[in-house]
Amino acid sequence: MKLSLSNGIFSKLKVNSNFAVIKDLSFENIEFNMKTIKKENDTGVYREQKALFSSGLKCLTLHSAVFHVKDPIEVHQAVYYGKISLECARALCAPLMTIHSNVSKKTPKKVREQCLQNIFGEIKPFAKKLGIKLALENLSHNSSGFGKNVEEIEEILDIIDTDEELGITFDFCHALETKVVDELIDKYYRRICNVHMANKAHKPFIKETPELTKILSKLHNCGYEGPITLELDSKTSIEEIKKTKVLFEQLLRRL
Ligand SMILES: [Zn+2]
Repeated sequence: MKLSLSNGIFSKLKVNSNFAVIKDLSFENIEFNMKTIKKENDTGVYREQKALFSSGLKCLTLHSAVFHVKDPIEVHQAVYYGKISLECARALCAPLMTIHSNVSKKTPKKVREQCLQNIFGEIKPFAKKLGIKLALENLSHNSSGFGKNVEEIEEILDIIDTDEELGITFDFCHALETKVVDELIDKYYRRICNVHMANKAHKPFIKETPELTKILSKLHNCGYEGPITLELDSKTSIEEIKKTKVLFEQLLRRL
């Protein structure tokens, strides 16, 4: 497994400083979160690309811009968010993009179905054309999006993924909060291709906990070799990030 840091934690910094802090912490890999780009022209992706290449960091995954559609009229916006995120993933040579269902949990089932079909009917072929794999993330209670447990994720996949092409981004923090860790792993272990790692409320793991030990060995036993992406709350201090990094380096070495 490869340790990686989501750059969303430093989303207030401009891209060059954002990457510089991550280099200072001596991470080699990142997940690029689209929330670090604000109100930019689409050509802003070239600036991100230049900054990444000169930093020497490797972008293993990209987190799509997030938009949870409440009404079918908003489908175009979700499609745009998905497509510009995919363009950014291509520019940063990220082979994988983490994506939410793009539909609000407040939409009725019928509307949800229609929106999911229309959104992914455009995003999936575009991702395929660019050679980027999509990985659907499990969400938490406080997310406005739909897709927090196996039942909801199955509903989504039955509509948008009958060919079983999508991967899964397993978010450990969300799964702890919604109490569906085992349920998700047992159902999707073959399809997991990214892991978002944090304790509840995106707090860092400073020390080993029984849940953490268990999930890492479970992933290892399932043959998982992809990224362990630290996705931490922006209030996490630099000292805490350093401690978390040391802890995970030890834990991953021990597997
Ligand atoms: Zn996440």
